[in-house]
Amino acid sequence: MQWFHIPAAALGCALVISSAGLAGDEDGHYAIRLHLDPATSHLNADITITLPVDQAREGAGFFLGDRFTLEAISTDSGGRITLAPESGVLPGTRLISVEYPDDLAEPAVLRVAYSGELNISGDRTVNALTAAGLELRVDFMWLPTVTGINLQYTADAQISGLPDDWTIVTQGEAVRDDEGVVHVHRNQPDIDFVLVAAPGLERRSAPGVHVYARDFDFILTDIATRHAALSVEWLQDWMGPLPYGDVSLTVLPEGSGAYARRGYIVMSEGRAQIEAMEEELPEWGPARLVAHEFAHAWWSPADAMTEHYWLTESVAEYVAVRYVEDMFDVETANIFWEAKRERALASGPLTGGDRRGSGNALYQRGPMLLQALEHRVGREALDRVIGRLAPIGPRLTQQFLDVLAEEAGPEAASWFDAQLASGPGPWDGAEETEDADQSDR
Ligand SMILES: [Zn+2]
Repeated sequence: MQWFHIPAAALGCALVISSAGLAGDEDGHYAIRLHLDPATSHLNADITITLPVDQAREGAGFFLGDRFTLEAISTDSGGRITLAPESGVLPGTRLISVEYPDDLAEPAVLRVAYSGELNISGDRTVNALTAAGLELRVDFMWLPTVTGINLQYTADAQISGLPDDWTIVTQGEAVRDDEGVVHVHRNQPDIDFVLVAAPGLERRSAPGVHVYARDFDFILTDIATRHAALSVEWLQDWMGPLPYGDVSLTVLPEGSGAYARRGYIVMSEGRAQIEAMEEELPEWGPARLVAHEFAHAWWSPADAMTEHYWLTESVAEYVAVRYVEDMFDVETANIFWEAKRERALASGPLTGGDRRGSGNALYQRGPMLLQALEHRVGREALDRVIGRLAPIGPRLTQQFLDVLAEEAGPEAASWFDAQLASGPGPWDGAEETEDADQSDR
């Protein structure tokens, strides 16, 4: 299942979503109480979700991992709860549905208490909680999460059971009280509650970015730390100030891949893989990944389950390869472009349906289409489009097309619109001819 598959750290990035703006009436709120046991991976959770009126009136469904035992579930406002043992959408999840009366006038409250293993074993093993640390993210389906994975919510959390010497990194503020309970307060809405905690994490800061890692001398961490500072400066030159302030980047010794939320990025050290490589890790590999994740500071508001999601992943990836071209050279950037070609040609449309494009469409074909657009309208025009849209945080394809039409003409916009909705791409026939020519030589 796409959702759970985290592409290899060298070439991919997992989902990212967030949207512009501060907390408002349309945002929800999660009050989270957790007890965690690093020795057993056991979790006890008591979650109170406040749903905005509009979301509640529509009826709300929540995914929750089916590995947890439900201990209590209740709602107010005349809500009616239905439980399905399998969501049928995401493997390993159950579905909690709540219907509220049409005349609901106030935000509704849903409370769910449950317990079980935070870790997942089997096909998609997840070690979210071990003696080496904790990682919380939506992909583990440990927290009831609306089925659109698009509810923006603020959060307060109380977390007990974490060893005193673990460093906590999260969005918002985190403080530990005298009893060792960690209190998180997050005013900023996002679609996820993310947190990492591990022993021995130290912090290094540069303008706009704080890097947390255990070993700054390790080659991946060293490269990531340098390119965090460099890429954040480079991106801000193009797109304006970081929309949500400073970004924290955590390099986890044991992690589940690379991903970003608002002001928050996590990468894995990947030490075993890197040490097994025959050649030294090339600097441009992590440099592209870091630039991709930091680009999500601007490019991430589009809903992850919709056709507009290319605005998040394809644009971030295009921007990241441009960063590589600028920091290294065209030949280095071409290593990435060439690596994309085969999977791009095998992929389908990015838009035109009620779901997002495939991984290959989003990460390979989308960036290549943007490169083709660049060749068509000129780099300066496309750079203006991206520079104008970045501070707005576009959620819809049409927003991109409108600005493109203004900067490069309506013909360019309708051409690009058609390319997004079709496949594989404008380079297809031309490339076949070129390849045939080469094989003749
Ligand atoms: Zn990404």
